[in-house]
Amino acid sequence: WKGFWSTKVLELISNYSSKNFEERKKIISEIYGIINSALEVYSNEDFWNKPIQYIKGVGPKRAKLLNKLDIKSLRDLLYYFPRDYDDRSKLKKIAQLIPGEKVTLKVKILGYEESRTPYKGIPVLRAKVSDDTSYMYAIWYNQRFIKQNLPVGTEVLISGEVKKILRNFEMENPEYEILEEKEETLHVGRIVPIYSLTQGLSQKIMRQLIYDVITQYSIFIEDTLPEKIKQKYNLMDKPISVVEKHFPTSFLLMGSATKRLVFEELLFMQLTLVQKKKEIESLSAPIFNTESQLVKKFLDKLSFKLTSAQEKVWEEIKSDLSSGKPMHRLLQGDVGSGKTVVAAMAILLAVENGYQSAFMVPTEILAEQHYNRLKPLFEPLGIRVGLLIGSLSKKEKLSILEELNQGDLFVVIGTHALIQEEVKFKNLGLVIIDEQHKFGVIQRSNLWKKGKNPHLLVMTATPIPRTLALTIYGELDISIIDTLPPGRKPVSTYLFSTSERKKVYSLVEKEILSGKQAYIVCPLIEESEKLEAESASKLYEKLKKVFPNFNIGLIHGLIPKDERTRIMEDFRNGKIQILVATTVIEVGIDVPNASIMVVEDAHRFGLAQLHQLRGRIGRGETPSVCFLIANLNREEARERLKVFVSTNDGFLIANKDLEIRGPGEFFGTRQHGLPDLHLTDLTRDLRILEIARKEAFEILKEDANLEKEENIPIKRWIIKEKKEKTLVL
Ligand code: ADP
Ligand code: MG
Repeated sequence: WKGFWSTKVLELISNYSSKNFEERKKIISEIYGIINSALEVYSNEDFWNKPIQYIKGVGPKRAKLLNKLDIKSLRDLLYYFPRDYDDRSKLKKIAQLIPGEKVTLKVKILGYEESRTPYKGIPVLRAKVSDDTSYMYAIWYNQRFIKQNLPVGTEVLISGEVKKILRNFEMENPEYEILEEKEETLHVGRIVPIYSLTQGLSQKIMRQLIYDVITQYSIFIEDTLPEKIKQKYNLMDKPISVVEKHFPTSFLLMGSATKRLVFEELLFMQLTLVQKKKEIESLSAPIFNTESQLVKKFLDKLSFKLTSAQEKVWEEIKSDLSSGKPMHRLLQGDVGSGKTVVAAMAILLAVENGYQSAFMVPTEILAEQHYNRLKPLFEPLGIRVGLLIGSLSKKEKLSILEELNQGDLFVVIGTHALIQEEVKFKNLGLVIIDEQHKFGVIQRSNLWKKGKNPHLLVMTATPIPRTLALTIYGELDISIIDTLPPGRKPVSTYLFSTSERKKVYSLVEKEILSGKQAYIVCPLIEESEKLEAESASKLYEKLKKVFPNFNIGLIHGLIPKDERTRIMEDFRNGKIQILVATTVIEVGIDVPNASIMVVEDAHRFGLAQLHQLRGRIGRGETPSVCFLIANLNREEARERLKVFVSTNDGFLIANKDLEIRGPGEFFGTRQHGLPDLHLTDLTRDLRILEIARKEAFEILKEDANLEKEENIPIKRWIIKEKKEKTLVL
């Protein structure tokens, strides 16, 4: 007799004696219904995972449609929350309409007129409709079939924005729903949910389905939050919150329901992350002696001094490496802030302490760059550096693998090739992951697992707000390089429409004649590397004609390794003046002489990505210029790109990008380690996130293994989540 449903039964029983015969009969049958459902729920261990097709009113055909919406089980259906609501608690009459308002009306179809729009000839269906107060028009474009769905005389609900044209009200492309009288109790006279649908499902069906499931089962939903927390933050009981989220009695209560559900989502996520953090802290790792000769020699040979920000971060890293616990640190620093040097120093420390290091980066071209940079700095110190990428010959690869396995090679730089099964280390003590946002959690973890609790440093140029960092990297400590090396000049950025391409080219020509070098970045084609390469080749051929007097190079993902190395080398030493490139150069590439960049189809890129690209220039002493060529027809694109032109501040740009695209998109989906957040809107719910994090620490402090009675539901959830998602380090 635990849970919300038993309270409900007790309530019914306590009223029983004061009722008359008829009412008692009703109460008994209600209790009977509840007990029956309880039997169903509690006699099936896996009740909530019951496949959707076995639910009353579904069946195989509808199940298929629901599957398309990712609704596979009863649980999925319960948690398939509305995308919007329509307030039908009081339906308006036509005579009361105010122009511009969004309303739902119940009207009768009086007749149709068909025509076409004057210019494009789009079919127009114009219906005269009325209620008992007046008449108006509903207009549908390109949807003549509606005439069949709503024959003259039909009574129908229409929703949309009303406009006043001359003397009559009109509604363009209204949503509509036909209701029989007996259906009205559910679909009218209340705030009704609007769900995301798929072809073949209607709002009506979906609403009914969810309504039925909720009425029957919602009281059996287990309340997962400890009573203490619910009281402290004034949070609803879970069963009520689920009901209110679907069928709100008021928008106020719907808000509280959302808050409750978001809180739970964030608390659970933070619990997992905090637990993970504690797990890491309980491990022991190699203790590095941080008094280092190698680092000192390395710094002596550099042509620059570390910035104070780099110094500070280095201290933080050293303290991790000598702590005896595995370092788990995220290093943030804007493009060009000098993260690589710090990583190199950590590697040297590992070597000096007798451990191997692996440095993983997302592209081959970046791996080669790091390799070519570090090799001449490391070799004089007697340290060999290995490169492990997919395009090595079999022989080269085998020899590296052998050396890593034997422990003869201490430093390896590579791509995803590093996480392949056959790569084995003798004693991996340090893992560094560059441009970590390009990797998934699993990939990070797979490399980490190749050592025995090695130290981990992940680096990113995507500066994100601290609170947000907590959601995604909640188990990591964070270091920030917040200043650029001295002498950097901000890049000037200019925006051009596609019709101004010639002008851009002549500006580029002028700059190159004055001795500079340029990147010309091709349009982004996400679907396939092959298509992207083809389009890059085309642009390359075209540009050879536009700039017949310059040396032009081409680089994309499918250029063979040796040629790629030669081209990058020629670009670095100035033999090539213009490098036509795909987004392979997006991350990490560092050629200080290059100071011009042209980005084609700039509107297709996300802001953070553009910022990364632009980070390729502005690395040397000469002032740099970035030209964006974009289709500016769309307001949204114009606005976005204007923000980009107006600032070089990566933090500001990231925030803007986040605001525009939302966290999921921004981080490139779940695959990249963003936990499942269905209801949370991180731009809105940051405050809840902070509280949830605090509570997560509290809960685990008092009950590290979640053994207390009140925490059992949480524990169950975490175990289940771990099983499903293999949440690993
Ligand atoms: P990112 O943080 O984007 O990875 P890099 O590590 O590629 O940046 O560094 C960008 C450039 O700045 C490199 O050419 C590097 O040699 C140079 N650099 C790094 N630190 C300093 C410094 N303290 N002073 C001057 N130049 C520096
Ligand atoms: Mg870098």
